[in-house]
Amino acid sequence: MSDCIFCKILSGEIPSKALYEDDDVFAFEDLNPQAPLHVLIIPKTHIETINNLDNHNSAVIGKLYLAAKKIAFDAGYSNEGYRVVMNCGEAAGQTVFHIHLHLLAGRPLNWPPG
Ligand code: 5GP
Ligand code: ZN
Repeated sequence: MSDCIFCKILSGEIPSKALYEDDDVFAFEDLNPQAPLHVLIIPKTHIETINNLDNHNSAVIGKLYLAAKKIAFDAGYSNEGYRVVMNCGEAAGQTVFHIHLHLLAGRPLNWPPG
């Protein structure tokens, strides 16, 4: 998608601080971190929201979680704990319409979220 910020990050057109990459998944530091560790984990295919998932494109979601687990482990947060969250739609706070897991760690994370 030519107008998608995260597709531009994938192509290198917009620079990012990469933390993980494999054939299907890319992860990079959030530009406006909300915790000491705040990583965005995205599929390399452009999928706008959870509403656009189906039986053909949803296998990558498990891979996003495996990447989150590895990044959290490598950063030393496996035991302490961390949060992974995916916003769907404007009312939930989604601002970039290329699905992404937020991985947050390093401070107390309240529940319920705002
Ligand atoms: P959302 O609100 O859609 O769930 O999350 C979008 C996230 O993308 C936000 O946390 C925001 O800080 C981050 N973001 C937006 N533009 C950029 C960018 O150009 N580079 C990086 N690294 N993060 C971005
Ligand atoms: Zn995209």
